[in-house]
Amino acid sequence: APILVYLAFHPAELESPRGLDLVITLGPSMLIAIIFIRFHRGIEQWVAALEAEGLRMQALAERDALTGLYNRRAGESFLLTLLARPEASDSLILFDIDHFKNINDTHGHPVGDAVLREVAHRCGALLRKDDVFARWGGEEFLVLVRGPGEEGVVRVAEDLRTAISATPIESVGTVTASFGVARFRSRDTMASWLQRADDALYEAKRAGRDRVVGR
Ligand code: GH3
Ligand code: MG
Ligand code: MG
Repeated sequence: APILVYLAFHPAELESPRGLDLVITLGPSMLIAIIFIRFHRGIEQWVAALEAEGLRMQALAERDALTGLYNRRAGESFLLTLLARPEASDSLILFDIDHFKNINDTHGHPVGDAVLREVAHRCGALLRKDDVFARWGGEEFLVLVRGPGEEGVVRVAEDLRTAISATPIESVGTVTASFGVARFRSRDTMASWLQRADDALYEAKRAGRDRVVGR
C-alpha cells in the first residue's frame, strides 16, 4: 500500500518501467487483500450469529415449553452424566400430582396447565441451583439431588410436598402430590434407579397419596 500511494503521487516514477512493474504486481494483490478483509469481517459476524442461534436452539431443545423446567431428554442426559461418577449421597425424587385428571375435568385444561406451572414454580423456588429439576411426563416431575444423604433427601421431598399442598392454588383449591425417593445404590443403572423411585411413588399413591415414600 505505501508503495502504491507513493507511485500515485509521483507520476514520473509511475510511468517508468519499474513503476509499471510495481503497479502490475502489487495492484491485484492489494485489491484481493481489500476484498478479503471485508469478506472476512462478514464471515466473522455470520459465524457469531450462528453460534448465538445454536446456543438459543440448544436452550430451547432441553426445556419444557409449559413450565420452563428441563424436559425429560435433558433430565436423562443429566442422569447419565451423573452415573458416570455417582456418589452414595445422590438421590432421585419422582413425584406426581394427585388426581390431576379431576382438575382437568373440573376446571378445564388451561387451568390444569396453570396448576402445572404453579407446582413447578413453587418447587423450583425451594430447590438449590445444582439440583436438576425436570418435567418427566404430563404431571410427573423428577428432581436429581446431590449430597443431602438419606435423611436430607426425604426432608427435601417433604418440603416440596408441603410447598404444593399447604397453600391452595388459585381457582382450584388444595392440590397434593405423591413422592417416591430413591437413593443411589452401587451397581444401579439409570433404569434400576428410576424403577426404584417409580416403585416408591407407586407405593405412596397406594398408601393414600399426599406422602413421601423412600427406598
Ligand atoms: P393419580 O392420583 O393416580 O396420579 O391420578 P391422576 O388423575 O393424576 O393420573 P392420570 O395419569 O390418570 O392423569 C394424568 C392426567 O394428566 C391425564 C392427562 O390428560 C393430564 N395431562 C398430561 N399432560 C398435561 C398437560 O400438559 N396439561 C394438562 N392440563 N393436563 C395434562
Ligand atoms: Mg397423577
Ligand atoms: Mg401420572
